[in-house]
This record gives sequence, structure tokens and C-alpha cells, in this order.
Amino acid sequence: MTMWNYSNAPRCTVCSHRAIIDKQQAQTLVNSSDGRLVAYQCPIELSSWHVWAPEFEKAAGASSE
Ligand SMILES: [Zn+2]
Repeated sequence: MTMWNYSNAPRCTVCSHRAIIDKQQAQTLVNSSDGRLVAYQCPIELSSWHVWAPEFEKAAGASSE
């Protein structure tokens, strides 16, 4: 396994500056997140993938209301 740091990944300017990773990296994160992370393909850069945490981000949005 290669050393790879999610926080050092380049950011996608059209996807809320989410980290740009490849499909395999995305799948690895999803598999290790116990269901908290969801992977999706970048709509602009089709070779790029992103992950996000729906529960965490929903909670963050709700707390500001
Ligand atoms: Zn993107």
C-alpha cells in the first residue's frame, strides 16, 4: 500500500474544493469509512473522484440554522 494523504490531495474548484482522488482511492476510503463516506465521480473531470460524508455535512448545515 502506498503512503497517501487525503489532505495533501489537489482540490477540485468546481466541487466545493473537495479532494481530487482516483476511483480506487475513493473506493478505499468508502470501504474504510464504515458507511459514512460516499464516493462520486466528478461531473467535470471524469477521471477524478471525490468522497463526501452526507451525515456529517448535513449535521454541519443544520447547526447553522
Ligand atoms: Zn470535481
